Amino acid sequence: MNEHDSERISGLLESDGMVNVDSVASADVVVINTCCIRENADDKFYGTLSQLKNWKTEKDDRQILVAGCLAQKDRDSIRQRAPYVDVVIGTHNVHRAAELLEQTRYGRPVTEILEEAVLDDHTMFPSALPMRREVSYNAWVTIQIGCDNTCAYCIVPAVRGKEISRPSAEILTEVESLVRSGVTQISLIGQNVNSYGRDLAMSARAAGDNTVKPKPQFAELLRSVGAIPGISRVRFVSPHPKDMREDTLLAMAETPNVVEHLHYPMQSGSDKVLALMHRGYTAERYLSRLAQARQMISDLAVTTDVIVGFPGETEEDFLQTVEVCAQACFDSAFSFIFSPRPGTTAAQMTDQFIDPAVAVERYERLKIVLDHSAVIKHRERIGRIEEVVVEGMSKKNPELTTGRTRQNKILHFSSPQSLRVGTYAKVEVTDAARFHLSGRLIEVGEAPKHKLRLAVSSAN
Ligand code: SF4
Repeated sequence: MNEHDSERISGLLESDGMVNVDSVASADVVVINTCCIRENADDKFYGTLSQLKNWKTEKDDRQILVAGCLAQKDRDSIRQRAPYVDVVIGTHNVHRAAELLEQTRYGRPVTEILEEAVLDDHTMFPSALPMRREVSYNAWVTIQIGCDNTCAYCIVPAVRGKEISRPSAEILTEVESLVRSGVTQISLIGQNVNSYGRDLAMSARAAGDNTVKPKPQFAELLRSVGAIPGISRVRFVSPHPKDMREDTLLAMAETPNVVEHLHYPMQSGSDKVLALMHRGYTAERYLSRLAQARQMISDLAVTTDVIVGFPGETEEDFLQTVEVCAQACFDSAFSFIFSPRPGTTAAQMTDQFIDPAVAVERYERLKIVLDHSAVIKHRERIGRIEEVVVEGMSKKNPELTTGRTRQNKILHFSSPQSLRVGTYAKVEVTDAARFHLSGRLIEVGEAPKHKLRLAVSSAN
């Protein structure tokens, strides 16, 4: 969501006449779009801000804008610690970025934070504004903002507000226009995509339309987006296991361009900890829905998020998490050590905080299991022919091209010819590691419409 907000701020500033530059030294305006989900992001942000103080004072007309959820949460502290920042805006004010920079060009700094999105203001949806996409073939499309859940560790509902779904007609119009501009991969984003449309259905009924069933409409949306000609891949993040419905799995299985990848955030394998987290499901329910997903969608890759050391987590709870992770055998997992986010329920559970050394030790033990599963899953793919979309040269080895498979795996391969970013190709998987696959080019598909070219890589 933050990356998408960044694209939107870039787009707004470009349509206001600004040009993107490669270095801070040559910039007139620096925008820092923040995220407060994890603690080290705060630390990095304040470090970056203090480094910018000299840059700012070297020239009179330089400006700094701070946006994002950390800005929303820490507005006073930013003003206090960095009074030289010109504009501080929250998550619902992104559309005002260019206007407020202009307003403060020769005037006083401004802080503008809207606590809640304005319901009838469609500019609140990031996709409804000009955008500078960092990846030409992929577009993030916001289908929903905010979250109505109350996960005990999460700051999102406080900084992003209530859940509001975007009307599907508007989403489909945007997707059609993206396809016309050369986009072939659509990534639908929301905090809890499974509940997409529930609020729209409720509003329709409240307005007297009793033909609408008061249920989520995500499965229908997935099918409608998938039916738009010209789209090769449809992805989505993130579903909530408590709201995962069979109709969504069926839509994934029956819509050919919806990819075989499900990010399915587990968080813990202990029912006690899941209840403390307010997650709304048990480990058994999580595993049975996961088994159903794998049974309904062939060749499904599953990734997850796990929090280690949540307040009150005992060794037994932790071992249950290890056990469930081993059973689930994830393709990859983002595991985190719990860090209290001020303003959340979990941050107040100080009497149950886990000794940091114990949490680190548990994290390392869990990582062994998660890494082992990833290697198993990746090795299963050796010998297969995968469809990849080219992302560019390998960052570590410019002789290799990097692509992404439908299962969202990185696949490095040698190619005798230069391949443009966004090209689809068939690659045979010849080797596998924890975080990536390796392979050789078999066949090049249709080239993309845009113009960026990779340097020629040498043949093997
Ligand atoms: S579902 Fe839970 S973790 Fe996800 S954004 Fe909402 S409150 Fe946060």
